[in-house]
This record gives sequence, C-alpha cells and structure tokens, in this order.
Amino acid sequence: MNSPSLQKYEDIREGVRGLCAEFDAAYWRGVDERKAFPEEFVEAMTRAGWLAAMIPEEYGGSGLGVSEASVILEEINLAGGNSGTVHGQMYNMFTLLRHGSEAQKQEYLPRIAAGELRLQSMGVTEPTTGTDTTKIKTTAVRQGDKYVVNGQKVWISRIQHSDLMILLARTTPLAEVQRKADGMSIFIVDLHDAIGNGLTVQPIANMVNHETNELFFDNLEIPAENLIGEEGKGFRYILDGLNAERALIAAECIGDGRWFIDKARKYASEREVFGRPIGKNQGIQFPIAKAHINVEAADLMRWRACEEYDSGRNAGASANMAKYLAAEASWEAANVCLQTHGGFGFANEYDVERKFRETRLYQVAPISTNLILSYVAEHLLELPRSF
Ligand SMILES: Cc1cc2nc3c(=O)[nH]c(=O)nc-3n(C[C@H](O)[C@H](O)[C@H](O)COP(=O)(O)OP(=O)(O)OC[C@H]3O[C@@H](n4cnc5c(N)ncnc54)[C@H](O)[C@@H]3O)c2cc1C
Repeated sequence: MNSPSLQKYEDIREGVRGLCAEFDAAYWRGVDERKAFPEEFVEAMTRAGWLAAMIPEEYGGSGLGVSEASVILEEINLAGGNSGTVHGQMYNMFTLLRHGSEAQKQEYLPRIAAGELRLQSMGVTEPTTGTDTTKIKTTAVRQGDKYVVNGQKVWISRIQHSDLMILLARTTPLAEVQRKADGMSIFIVDLHDAIGNGLTVQPIANMVNHETNELFFDNLEIPAENLIGEEGKGFRYILDGLNAERALIAAECIGDGRWFIDKARKYASEREVFGRPIGKNQGIQFPIAKAHINVEAADLMRWRACEEYDSGRNAGASANMAKYLAAEASWEAANVCLQTHGGFGFANEYDVERKFRETRLYQVAPISTNLILSYVAEHLLELPRSF
C-alpha cells in the first residue's frame, strides 16, 4: 500500500512491525475464539518498551510524543492485531504525566516503564448516567487520611489485566458546585489492594474480545495521597487527556482502515468469478478506492491533531474531528472489505469479521460519534447548546 504517511517514523514502524510479525493472524484468531486476553502480546510490547513510549526518559521511558505513540498503535492494527488490548496504557499516561505530583510520578512511572506495573484502566462511565458524565453518582468522601468510595461503574476495560486504575468520582455534590464540571476528582487506585476490599469486578460478555467490566464500590478506602492534582478539578484533567486519546484512537482507526483496504485489494485481485478477477469490475473497485480516499483524508486530520498536541497547542478541535473522520473511514473500509469477500467475509479464517467487530466499537467508545458532532456544533460553530 502506498501512502506518504507510512514513511513517517519509519524506524518505529519497522520495530513495531517486527514484533507484531510474531503474533500472526492465527494468534489473534485464537485469542478471539477463546475470548482470551492476548497476554503474550501485551507482555512482548511491554518488554520491548513500546508501552512506555510516552514516559519521560528520567523515569525510564522513551520520552516520545503523541505522534510516535499514534504510530505504535496504528501499526498494531495495520498488522491485523487489536490495539485495544494495550491502548489504555498510552491514554491513561497523560493524566499521570500532566497532573500527577512528583511523588506519584516517582512512585509509579519507573515501575510502569520497567514493566512491573500496568496502568491500563480508567473508570469514568456509569450505568445510570452514560455520556452525561457530570451527573456521575460514584462518590469519594474524605475521612482523615483516606477517601471512601461508593457507587458503580460500567464498561471499565482491562481491569483484570491491569495493576492500576484512574478513577473519576464526585467529591462535592452536584447541587453544591457552581459549574457542573466542578467537584469531581481523580484518584489512582491500586487494584490489588482494592479488589475484594470494597471493589467487586463483574465481567461483561460482549461482541468484541474486549475485557471489560462492571465495578461495584462499597466503602472502598483509597489513601488520600492517591488523589491526582487538586480535589474538584478531576473532570478537567480527564478532558485534557481525552484530546490526546482521540488523536490516538484516530490512528488506530487509520491502521484498521488500511488493513481492510489491503485485504480487500488483494482478495479482489485474486478471486475469480465469471472467468476474471472480481477486482476488474468497477462495482468492486470503486468502493475500495473511495474507502482508501477517506482513510487518507482522515489521516491528514490525525496528523494535524498529533502535531498540535505535541507542539503544546490546543488540539481539541482537530482531535475530535480526526476521531470522527477516522472512525467513519475505518468502518466504511470494514464494510467494503466484508462485501468484497462475499460469503467468505463471514468465515472466521479470513479475519475480516473479527476486525469488522473490533473497528465498529470506535463509533461508540471511548466517545460516540454523536457526541463529537455535538462538540463541533456547539464549540466550533457556536450553535446553541443542546445539553
Ligand atoms: C467495549 C467497551 C469498552 C469501554 N471501555 C471503557 C473504559 O475503559 N472506561 C470507561 O469509562 N468507559 C468505557 N466504555 C464506555 C463508553 O465510553 C460508553 O459506552 C460511551 O461513552 C457511551 O456511553 P453509554 O454507553 O452510556 O451510552 P449513552 O450515553 O446511554 O448513549 C446511547 C446513545 O445515545 C447517544 N446520545 C446520548 N445523548 C445524546 C445526545 N444528547 N444527543 C445525541 N445523541 C445522544 C449516544 O451517542 C449513544 O449513541 C467502554 C464501552 C465499550 C462498549
């Protein structure tokens, strides 16, 4: 496949590609069929240092930016893997890096960089409030040198394969704050201490092979020093990290999109029906070409977002638009790839149906398409607020 952006960060691409080559389609098909966690892959990524890419060098990482991290995640999907198994560590790092105290960074970052700890989980979504995050009902009440947490979360991913979780909870009741975004705080939770001592984890069976869970908090005690940044400002810290997360998700979708297009292109060239390759028919060619154009266009916005973030500019608009465009483009490419394969697109051994399910998620999580449209309408176009 030919795209100028595949020549960016070639050394990183080659490194990640080399590692991914050890985890071929049969590996990913196997973990999907067993609904297993790809522990060997995650461990190999950790050992190779890729999951510590964004940790500054003084804490043992590589000190790379969002652009480089985006290439790492893109390459996993481009190789036919599932970046959703490791992306949490990249996303969650922002919060700790930008808002954690020096003591917290010293405590966690070197051990994360060394692969002794995983920071793969973030607990925000709740069953009764969904996208309306400022209404969350999970509370953290300060009692002396600890906070006591009560409430519930849903869809919290990789808990069973992480050591740490960043948790969003309300520390001041909604009725007592001036702005609804105030009064929420974030904490770093040691999952080994928490599970069985106030935190119960209930796995959710779901459409993708994505380890995700319901969490129940019943007087979970968290040491007060695990508060990240200032009490009451947690929602702002999370939002800050979400822009980077959206740029990274966009890159993951670009990787998926390119995988689908390549798969469709090869199959269309090889599969013969009516005595000629199906790819000779423009009815097959044009949807693949259109999907390619849309992936390439989305990629331009992805780079704009990554570069804005890395140069310290506000990447909010670009990151949201990149995530929207890339999630749409990867979904279109998935659909075209499935259609090009005809009946064989449904057979597990072609991997199309697996990747089809995986890329569909990005229309909904970590932020749904409607909410991005709402952001663009209200914040960029200054249309009246709808909520
Ligand atoms: C596999 C998976 C993994 C996840 N991992 C995590 C995780 O690790 N941590 C975490 O905190 N969360 C996680 N999530 C949760 C995810 O972020 C939410 O599912 C998502 O934000 C949507 O919230 P909801 O499911 O409650 O949908 P709802 O808020 O109930 O919305 C349902 C639908 O209505 C639409 N909608 C709602 N309000 C409006 C409106 N005003 N205008 C237009 N449309 C609207 C939404 O866009 C959505 O399509 C995960 C979800 C999944 C499926």
